[in-house]
Amino acid sequence: MARLSTENKKSNRLPSKVKLDDKGIDLGSILCSACQDAPESAAHLFFECDFVKKLWTDIFSWCCISPREIHNPLDLTLALDVGPRNISFKMCIDAVFCTTCWWLWRARNMINFSHSRWPSNLLHMVKVWSFH
Ligand SMILES: [Zn+2]
Repeated sequence: MARLSTENKKSNRLPSKVKLDDKGIDLGSILCSACQDAPESAAHLFFECDFVKKLWTDIFSWCCISPREIHNPLDLTLALDVGPRNISFKMCIDAVFCTTCWWLWRARNMINFSHSRWPSNLLHMVKVWSFH
């Protein structure tokens, strides 16, 4: 889908902690704010963090898509190509995936800038905002 392709290009430009560190900006720590277990790259932030994997599993279940490992936006695009799906369904799923990425970025920013905890209601927020 066009939007996922665009999101793929944008994700490489996101100011993740790793990206900012590469530019010489001292953040003190480049560890993921949610898990504190790995450097916060775009791939970790959106696909590899254990907090995020749980959300994607729930999203796939809600969308009636077989669970799968997601490592990058291309994997999301491939998830849309499985099975006989019509274009309306794919457009809805595209909206859900983009909304999920937006909420993941928002959750990351809430932790970093508002000292919040990882939101426990992300699945609910994605469901509400995907078709808002
Ligand atoms: Zn993490």
